[in-house]
Amino acid sequence: MTAAKRDADTDGTDDMLLLFTDTLIEDRDLYRFMIESAAFIYDLPKPVDLIDKCDSIPDVGDVPIDHRREYLLDLAGEAMKRIPALHWIQDGRDPWKVFYDRKWIGNSRVAQCSEELKQKLSRNWVKARYKPHEALIYVGIDWTESHRVPAIERGWSPYRVIAPMTEQPYLYKTDMLNDLKRYGIKVPRLYDMGFSHNNCGGFCVRGGQGHFINLLKNNRDLYLYHEAKELEMQAYLGRTDVTILTRTVRGVEHTLTLRELRGEWDSGLGLQIDLLDIGGCGCYV
Ligand code: SF4
Repeated sequence: MTAAKRDADTDGTDDMLLLFTDTLIEDRDLYRFMIESAAFIYDLPKPVDLIDKCDSIPDVGDVPIDHRREYLLDLAGEAMKRIPALHWIQDGRDPWKVFYDRKWIGNSRVAQCSEELKQKLSRNWVKARYKPHEALIYVGIDWTESHRVPAIERGWSPYRVIAPMTEQPYLYKTDMLNDLKRYGIKVPRLYDMGFSHNNCGGFCVRGGQGHFINLLKNNRDLYLYHEAKELEMQAYLGRTDVTILTRTVRGVEHTLTLRELRGEWDSGLGLQIDLLDIGGCGCYV
């Protein structure tokens, strides 16, 4: 949002498009935020009815993922009609379906979900419409994440990448969240719940132990859903040595399932959990 706003303020919005790649498991308040922000950037009336519709997005785990996908397809269609410069696309799979297809569970080193649902999808969309000299790719990372720029540039080459929030004036996340208040846009609720990013509804295979404990504390049902999915994938692969999380004890790396992590937390063994291990999303890298 802030990167798009900075570009809009500098160069206007006439030739600016917004591209959103939907993993189908985003927090419902992310969809609200995206629709509200996109309308604001293009100086369109606040689409109150669409914002209200976001409240009824089924929770992940409450309905089969295909039902959620249908609801989101419908919402995306309406949002794009109302905000023509917004392009809301989806591969049709969620991260767990990608893991199933790729026969591996994503983790901090290998995140096939990011590769399939974000990187390939967005790149193919751009490639199908623009030659490298016809498009500039703007990404929203900020100056605290500048180390990610070279990998993003490599991934998009030969397209040119610009990361406006890595440039002056440097803003902290709190500055950006305060700006939202100035614009009259509610801060996405995951930030108020202590999440470091607003991706995949507070789930992320690149997250660490602390990240997942935060999910457990804030949304136990969603945690239990992903916990069950991880065990289901292990059964499908016929392997118990593949997990999202690992823990290194005296130099030896061990697998750590979400069920084991929850068991430790629930039985008061929180001290052996590394709550500072938040991990990082880096979805476009
Ligand atoms: S946020 Fe995490 S889980 Fe979601 S697509 Fe990106 S890497 Fe995968």
